[in-house]
Amino acid sequence: MKEGKILKELLQDFAEIKKHSLVDGELWRASYTKEDQKVKEYLTAMMRTKGFIVSQDALMNLLGQIEGRESDETILVGSHLDTVKNGGEFDGLYGFLAGIYAIENLVKVYGQPKRSLAVVGFMEEEGSRFTSGYIGSRAIVGELKDSDFAEVDRSGTSLREAVKLAGGKPSECISAKRLDIKAFFEVHIEQGPVLEQSGKQIGLVESINGLRILQITVRGRQDHAGTTPMGLRKDALLHACKIISNMDRLTENTISPSTATVGELLLKPGSSNVVPDFVQFTVDIRSSDSEAIKYIVCGISKIAETIKHAGLEVKIEVIADEPPIQLDDDLLKANEMICKEEGYSYFVMNSGAGHDAQVIAPHIPSALLFVPCVGGRSHTPEEAMTEVSMMDGIQILSRVLYDQAW
Ligand SMILES: [Zn+2]
Repeated sequence: MKEGKILKELLQDFAEIKKHSLVDGELWRASYTKEDQKVKEYLTAMMRTKGFIVSQDALMNLLGQIEGRESDETILVGSHLDTVKNGGEFDGLYGFLAGIYAIENLVKVYGQPKRSLAVVGFMEEEGSRFTSGYIGSRAIVGELKDSDFAEVDRSGTSLREAVKLAGGKPSECISAKRLDIKAFFEVHIEQGPVLEQSGKQIGLVESINGLRILQITVRGRQDHAGTTPMGLRKDALLHACKIISNMDRLTENTISPSTATVGELLLKPGSSNVVPDFVQFTVDIRSSDSEAIKYIVCGISKIAETIKHAGLEVKIEVIADEPPIQLDDDLLKANEMICKEEGYSYFVMNSGAGHDAQVIAPHIPSALLFVPCVGGRSHTPEEAMTEVSMMDGIQILSRVLYDQAW
């Protein structure tokens, strides 16, 4: 592999794509926008020069295909093309480009593969325009329903209109479903500090964390802050804090690692001299172990009961619930062997963030490989990768794809 040449081209691609992805000076490549279209035009031209057959499916997922010579089975590799608002350059896009460069190089060295290979750039994984996210990957596995197209973005444009305006065919959504895919590989930056701190080159993901988001509402009684003795109050915030201040204790007690985050909190009436009677907050709970998630939810419910005994109302609603996803064990073991044989240090780990691989994995054997990002920073303009990590991911992916397709 001519590493210097690949790295030079890759860095040029990132720089060019960044230029096409700026909205008011911030990097934001939302799906079905003119930024998305410009980047796809750039990638289409680039893939054609490298010998890929380029197409877009009904949902506008970008696909680059290399036909196999013996079989109608396809090995799929890729990641998402969209970014969060004011996001980073490498989240998603790195996995797409790693697929392109790995396959281009393999074809140059070994000629036409036995099995077909396809690189996919998924639409709208992040949910930064249409909140539910994973639109492209759900279409590929046939999980996108007609009712999903009614979802609207902040400006009131529905997914159906957005796809149509961009040139896609929402009514032909089912045609995006692929039955020829035998395995899926996604390479992604870790987006956290665990891999970098481990000092290893490659993260082999065995499971993607489950997620449950609770919305908790505590209703007490509004009173005068100066005249109401402490013992006679029904202060909604003081009681909400009994739940919030137990997040560290509850997560420390789970057998598998877990997190619980209160990221939104609304307080009413919101006046310095009034005892608050209304607090609403979210708790984002994640773990690779569904028992850990259950344990934390159960702990919160027990505290809620004590608040009710004090005469306040507590309502707990589940606003998101995604189970933990196990990635394919055989592919994980094969990738461990590859890392050993190629002399790469590796770390078997969970993913704290969601990825397209979690949508594909219940349908098609899937593997998710991480490379470190600098300081674990992601979803920020400061997101960065070292050149060494960029090439490590491409090298390992090349060997994985060689074993699968040649
Ligand atoms: Zn991503």
